[in-house]
Amino acid sequence: MFKKLISLSVNALIVLAFISCGSSDDASPSTSADVPAIYKKIYAATDLYVEGDYVYIKTNGRPDHKSPYYKGTQWESALYEAYNGSNTSFTINPNKIANQTFTFKIPLNPKVSTAHSATPLGPIGISLNGVPFYNQYAGPNQPLTNEINSFDQYFGHPQQSGQYHYHAEPYYLTATKGNDALLGFLLDGFPVYGPTENGKAVSNADLDAYHGHTSTTSDYPSGIYHYHITGADPYINGSGFYGTAGTVSQ
Ligand SMILES: [Zn+2]
Ligand SMILES: [Zn+2]
Repeated sequence: MFKKLISLSVNALIVLAFISCGSSDDASPSTSADVPAIYKKIYAATDLYVEGDYVYIKTNGRPDHKSPYYKGTQWESALYEAYNGSNTSFTINPNKIANQTFTFKIPLNPKVSTAHSATPLGPIGISLNGVPFYNQYAGPNQPLTNEINSFDQYFGHPQQSGQYHYHAEPYYLTATKGNDALLGFLLDGFPVYGPTENGKAVSNADLDAYHGHTSTTSDYPSGIYHYHITGADPYINGSGFYGTAGTVSQ
């Protein structure tokens, strides 16, 4: 009898917990006051919230700029644009842009990790327009040499499942936000900046093995480790994450 009472009250607690979760979800999306302003720069986020020590960012992964890879999609009339970039060897790949369901979970307080784990193939970070960053490889340790020829005029392309991504400078974002602007975050939570700083081009030689350095930035006046995108391989990240990486589900 006593046991039964206990299990009843446990059930009651569970019910109560569900009710209280339900009522908080009825409020506006959990893009709450506890999301630091810096993450709101990811303007394409469809949901943005903090849970525990992580910020969660959801996006559909589709570029908000035009692309030849919108041909034959439901967005063609608004977003298709034939290739008009400067690469005379441009060769379109057979893939088309498709909606994705990304949830990026990145540390709110990024910390250096001595392990510096290698970046995976697939998304390694998120840019301001919700398009994922990929690393400097086309396949296990394969350089991008041939893939680059399928980058569109904004320097991205889709893979087999229609996932559009940037392995290098996202030209649309540097054009609209500035060459020295914050462009996104890698999964370890450290920010990614464009190819110039304090009016000067940043080169790979200015950066450490992970493709970053520590200094103040306009968004972080007390200084932070940050990556820079440069025009030469490895472009965004070098020999692995500087910090402990979060996760991405899709
Ligand atoms: Zn690629
Ligand atoms: Zn810097």
